Amino acid sequence: MSTQEELFYKHVALTSDSPMGITISHANGAVFFSTAGKRYIDFISGIAVSTLGHRHPSVVQAIKNQLEKHLHVMVYGEFIQRPQAEFAASIATRLPENLDRIYFVNSGTEANEGALKLAKKYTKRTRLLAFRNSYHGDTHGSLSVTGRDVYRDPYLPLLPDVHFYDFNSDEVLGGINEETAAVIMEPIQGEGGIIPAQKKWLSSVRQRCTETGTLLIFDEIQSGFGRTGKLFAFEHYGVVPDILCMAKAMGGGMPIGGFASSTAIFKAFMYDPPLNHVTTFGGHPLSCAAGHAALEFLCSNDLLSRAPVIEILVKKALSDLPGVVEIRGMGAMLGLVLESRELTQKVVESCLSRGLLLGWTLHSNTLVRLAPPLIISDELLSQALNILSEEIIACSISLV
Ligand code: PLP
Repeated sequence: MSTQEELFYKHVALTSDSPMGITISHANGAVFFSTAGKRYIDFISGIAVSTLGHRHPSVVQAIKNQLEKHLHVMVYGEFIQRPQAEFAASIATRLPENLDRIYFVNSGTEANEGALKLAKKYTKRTRLLAFRNSYHGDTHGSLSVTGRDVYRDPYLPLLPDVHFYDFNSDEVLGGINEETAAVIMEPIQGEGGIIPAQKKWLSSVRQRCTETGTLLIFDEIQSGFGRTGKLFAFEHYGVVPDILCMAKAMGGGMPIGGFASSTAIFKAFMYDPPLNHVTTFGGHPLSCAAGHAALEFLCSNDLLSRAPVIEILVKKALSDLPGVVEIRGMGAMLGLVLESRELTQKVVESCLSRGLLLGWTLHSNTLVRLAPPLIISDELLSQALNILSEEIIACSISLV
C-alpha cells in the first residue's frame, strides 16, 4: 500500500515544486499536529482563515446539526434554506444599510468575479480600475484586476479595459470617470505586502466614485471577519464600498465566499436575462451553518478586541530586534519586514523547524506574514513570539 505522502506526490496536482509537505494528523485551536507527532503553533491561520482557530466547538456543532438535516438540495437562489437565510441576515445586519444583501459563492476569487460582473451589468460600463501589487484571485476575471505581471503574463490576453494605478496615489482620481464601471481594491493589500490604504486617499477615491457613478468594490477576502480588529477593515476608515467581497475566515474553516451590495444594485442580476449569474454550490448549507456559528461567536465574545492586543504584543516583542525593518498592518494582519531575503527565508525555516508556522506573501520576499488565530492564548502567543525573536537574533548573527 502506498503511503499518503507517495499518493500526494504522485496524484495530487501541485502548485510548486517545493510544497511544505507537512503531513497533517489533526488540528485544534491555535495548533496543529503532523503525523510524526510534531506540534506546530499556527501563526498564519491557513492564510487568514482560522480566525477562531481550528475546529472551533461552536462551528463543529453547527456543522453536525446541519448534517442531520440536509446537504445540497438545489442550486443557489431557488430554495429557501435556513442556514443561508440566517447567515445572510447575520452578516447584513452588521453592515451599513447599503450592503443589505449577500450573494453567496464558494471562494474568494468567485466573490470578486461576481462583484466585477455585477458592477458591469449595473452600470452598463466596462472600464475597470485596479491597483499595482494587488491580489484578487486566480480565475480569469480576478487575475485581470490583479496587479502583478509575473502572474498575469502567462495567461494574456485577460479582460480588456482594465487600468492599473499605484496604490495610495492620487493619480487614480483622474482615471475615475463616467465610463468607469468599478474601482476594485483591497483596503489593506495582503499579498502585496500588508500595505494599508491611507485614510484621506480612500475618502477621495470614494468621493470620485460617487461623483461619476462608479462602483467602489472592496476586496476584504483577507482582511474581513475580524482580522484587523473590526469586522471589516473599511470600518477603520469610515469609507463604505458599494460592493464588499468576503471569503476565507467567513466559513469558520469551511469553504464559502460572498459579495454584499444593495437591493437596487443586485436587481441587475435578476433581469435581462433572469439567471444571468448563477452557481450550483454557492452558499452550501454546511458552510453557511458553520459561518453563521463562527460569526456569532466572534461578535458575542468580544474577540475583535483581541486583534489590537495581538498587534501590541507582536510589536513590543519584535520591533527593536536586529534585522527588523518595520512591522506594518493592523490588528492580527501584520507584516514583519526583515532586512534581506536570506534573513527572511532563514527565519521562516528555522521557526518551522521549532514548531512555529509563519506566513509568506505572493509578492514580497522580505516580509513575514503574521496572522495568528484571534483565539490564541497569551501563553501560546508568548511561546510563539519567544521562538520568533530568538530565531531573528540567531539568524541575523549567523548571516553577518
Ligand atoms: N482576494 C484577496 C485579497 C486574497 O487574499 C485572496 C486569497 O488569498 C483572494 C482574493 C482569492 O481567494 P480564494 O483563494 O478563496 O479564491
